[in-house]
Amino acid sequence: SLSDRLTGALKDLRGKGKLTDADIDRTCREIRLALLDADVSLQVVRSFIARIKERAKGAEVSGALNPAQQIVKIVNEELVGILGGETRRIAFAKTPPTVIMLAGLQGAGKTTLAGKLSAWLTKQGHTPLLVACDLQRPGAVSQLQIVGERAGTPVFAPHPGTSVGGEGELGVSAADPVEVARAGVAEARAKHHDIVIVDTAGRLGIDEELMAQAAGIRDAVQPDEVLFVVDAMIGQDAVTTAEAFASGVGFTGVVLTKLDGDARGGAALSIREMTGAPIMFASSGEKLEEFDTFHPDRMASRILGMGDVLSLIEQAEEHWDATQAEAAAAKITQGELTLEDFLEQMLMIRKMGPIGNLLGMLPGAGQMKDALSQVDDKQLDRVQAIIRGMTPAERDNPKIINASRRLRIANGSGVAVSEVNQLVDRFYEARKMMAAMSGRMGMPGANRRTN
Ligand code: GDP
Ligand code: MG
Repeated sequence: SLSDRLTGALKDLRGKGKLTDADIDRTCREIRLALLDADVSLQVVRSFIARIKERAKGAEVSGALNPAQQIVKIVNEELVGILGGETRRIAFAKTPPTVIMLAGLQGAGKTTLAGKLSAWLTKQGHTPLLVACDLQRPGAVSQLQIVGERAGTPVFAPHPGTSVGGEGELGVSAADPVEVARAGVAEARAKHHDIVIVDTAGRLGIDEELMAQAAGIRDAVQPDEVLFVVDAMIGQDAVTTAEAFASGVGFTGVVLTKLDGDARGGAALSIREMTGAPIMFASSGEKLEEFDTFHPDRMASRILGMGDVLSLIEQAEEHWDATQAEAAAAKITQGELTLEDFLEQMLMIRKMGPIGNLLGMLPGAGQMKDALSQVDDKQLDRVQAIIRGMTPAERDNPKIINASRRLRIANGSGVAVSEVNQLVDRFYEARKMMAAMSGRMGMPGANRRTN
């Protein structure tokens, strides 16, 4: 995975104070591969990486993150930004009904989406009508009727071989999808549906007839939204398809389907970059409820393939107090860490969740980790209790903790004297080790740039 590769490529960089050009190049090379693996188009990858490099070169190293993490953070922010930042909502018509037209290749998931979208809208108090304009594929109309029934949404459809609409002037020839679309919208207006979802036909590939038909439906119903529905599994082809639909029909938003598959979703990034259209919804299964508004942050971590790492980076930053860290780092290098600092560092690490998740995340924790590795959360509670049971003078200068003080601390914190002894011993060991390690490797914070 990308996170393994990055860890491998950058394991020596922990604790550096500044991103060097070589660090940036090496990290960017890995991220470039990850993006290509995720089906982001080469053209998009190139311009994207160029932007990342520019940002990374100007970046200060944060106290909480090592250089690799720093770049990953920038990449993630850029990805989220490109994917749309905030989710865009449906643009409802001032005068109902709002017309939403679905366009895309055959098999993209339009009809399935029609059901999901109408169920979702119904839950929000809307009263959608589905209109069956796929008259191409046998069974397409009855498929939409089944979908509509499941979603609890009425379906406007031509009756085979007869006229549709059933209400005199609304009746149209069953063969013409443009007329069905027009009649469907009229039906919605007459029956006070506030939203019309027009399901259209697709082909297996892009062709002119398909585009002409979709454009005809578009002109007839003047949709408020045209949603381009695209199967995330088709990878790089998604961009070609999106460009064809963008010029042939035009669309206002994108829906990604089949995100339950193993596609990394780089197509989303390419489509967004190449067409500028926002991704509005994500569909991830055949069931009605497997559908949601699109979340750029989730897609970004999917594309990078490192969701856990990203959330850890976020936590590390959130809980890292730079000033405190610098002071502690300076003390560590001089071998002057006190029990108070030890407790503070420990609490800072603990705020971030179960200790096991965090090992190695914080540059400082890299060293703390060894001191704490045999300790589980419950033991940490005891350590905390013991240190809390000490006077400030004792925490500041553990040397004064003699036998009688040890007994007092043990009684006060409800532990055995041996545990107090153990803690003090462990503290001295850790302090010595941390000072030695920080001397050898350089602690972040201790050697920060001071400009
Ligand atoms: P259309 O030709 O664009 O209308 O596509 P359909 O809605 O008929 O979907 C084509 C096939 O993909 C059907 O078998 C659907 O059940 C399936 N499908 C649609 N959306 C999803 C999805 O998000 N995940 C999965 N796994 N299958 C889907
Ligand atoms: Mg269909």
